[in-house]
Amino acid sequence: MALATAAPRGQQADPGTPAFEAETLKHFQALLQRDTSSPPGNEIRAVEYLKEVLDAEGIPYQVFAKDPQRPNLVVRMKGNGKKKPVLIMGHTDVVTVDPKKWTFPPFGGTVDGGYVYGRGTVDDKDNLVAALMLVLHIKRAGIALDRDVILLAEAGEEGAPDVGAQFMADNHLDAIDAEFCLAEGGGVVRSGGKVRQANIGTTEKEPRPVEIIVTGPAGHGSVPNQNSAVLAVSAAVTKVGQWKPPLRLNETTASYFKRLATMAEPAVAQQYRALLNPDPKVHGPAEDWMLVNEPGHWSMTHTSLVPTIITTGFRYNVIPSEAKATFDVRLHPDENQDTFLEQLRKVINDPKVEVRWARDRYRPAGGSKLTTEAYTVLEAMVKKHYDTVALPTMGTGATDMSNIRAKGPQCYGIGPATDTEDGQKGFSAHSDQERILVDELHRFVRFQYDVVMELARTK
Ligand SMILES: [Zn+2]
Repeated sequence: MALATAAPRGQQADPGTPAFEAETLKHFQALLQRDTSSPPGNEIRAVEYLKEVLDAEGIPYQVFAKDPQRPNLVVRMKGNGKKKPVLIMGHTDVVTVDPKKWTFPPFGGTVDGGYVYGRGTVDDKDNLVAALMLVLHIKRAGIALDRDVILLAEAGEEGAPDVGAQFMADNHLDAIDAEFCLAEGGGVVRSGGKVRQANIGTTEKEPRPVEIIVTGPAGHGSVPNQNSAVLAVSAAVTKVGQWKPPLRLNETTASYFKRLATMAEPAVAQQYRALLNPDPKVHGPAEDWMLVNEPGHWSMTHTSLVPTIITTGFRYNVIPSEAKATFDVRLHPDENQDTFLEQLRKVINDPKVEVRWARDRYRPAGGSKLTTEAYTVLEAMVKKHYDTVALPTMGTGATDMSNIRAKGPQCYGIGPATDTEDGQKGFSAHSDQERILVDELHRFVRFQYDVVMELARTK
C-alpha cells in the first residue's frame, strides 16, 4: 500500500489544479482497488487506506465499529462554533460483482478513454474521495471555518445500515450531529453529452415490504378446489396490482414537476402541469399517462406496491395448503402507516387473506426543507458548475440519509454528472459494470468543495 505523500506546507494545490486532480485520481483509484463488496463488506480495507492518508497529514479521526471488519470513520475539521456542523457522508462499501461481465477488472480502477472503471465509481467512492480531498485541502490550506466540517466514511450502506448509518445515528450521534448533511442520492443528468438537469435529493420514500398469506385445505390436484390458497393469493395479487393509491404531492415533488415542465418537450410538460392541477379530472389522466410512460415519476407521487415474490406449491398434483406473496411497498412520506394495512385489506376484500408488514420500519421516511441556507447554496453552486437549474427530488429508493434525517439534520443528496446513455449500456450504479467520466469526477469534487466552503468557511 503506497503512502500518500503530503504536499509541503504552503504549497498546497487548489481544487481544479492539475496537481489536485492527480491526487484525487490517485486516492480514487486506491479506494476502488480495495474490494469492499457487500456482503461481506470488509470496509476495513477502505478505512485502513483513509487512515494512512490522514495520518500522513496529521489529521485526527475516530473509528466506530459494531463489527470490527466493518468500521465507520469520522473526521472532524474544527470550526469556531459560530454555526452548527455540516456532515459529508460517503459509503465505503459497494455492491457485489460478477467479474465475467467486466471488460476491465472490477477492483482495478483502470483509466481508459476518459473514464475510470470499477465498482464504486459512481456508488459511492466518488462522494467518498470528494469528501477526503475536501478535508485534506482544509487542513493544508489552513482554512478558517465557522462550523465544523465532519466526514463520515460509513459502512453497510448496501443493505446493512445496522453496521453503518443506523448504528452511527443510534449510538454515536454526538460524533456526527450536524445542521446539514450531504450524501449520495442526487446527481446531474447528461444526455447527448450535455447537462440536462441536476437532481438534489431532498426526500425519499420509505421501504417497508408487506406480505399476504392464505392457508387452506390441501388436496389432490385432480379435484378442483375453489377455496385453494393458490387461487386466493392469486386473486389478491391481481386486486392489489389494479389498485392505484392516491396521488400525493409535497413541497419537493410540486417544485420538481413545476420546474421540469419548463424544461421538457411541450407534450410531456403538459402532463406535468396537469399532474399539479388539483382537479381529479385533470390530474387523473396525467397519472395514468405517467404510470405507463414514466413509472419512476409515478412512483415519486404515490405509494407503490409491486409484487416481487410468490411462494407456494411443491409438486404439480398437490394443492398446497399455503400460499404467500410479498410486495415491495415504497410508502410515500405522507402515507399514514397506521391505517395503510387496513386500506389494503379493504382492497383485497377477502377475510381468508392475512395481510401484514414483512418487517419493522428500518429506514424512516423524512424530508428536508427547500428554504434552508444549504439548499440555497446548492442551487447557486449547481448554476455555477453545471449551468442548469437544481431540481429538488424525491428518491423512490432509500438512502442512508433517512437514518440521519430522522435525528434532525437537513440532508441533501448530490452526485456527479452521468450520461443517461451510459445507464442504458449497463455502466450505472449496481449495473453489470460501473464507470465515471474522469472530467465529471473532478467537476463534482469542485462542486462539493464550493458548496461546503460557502456553508462553512469564515468570510
Ligand atoms: Zn450508494
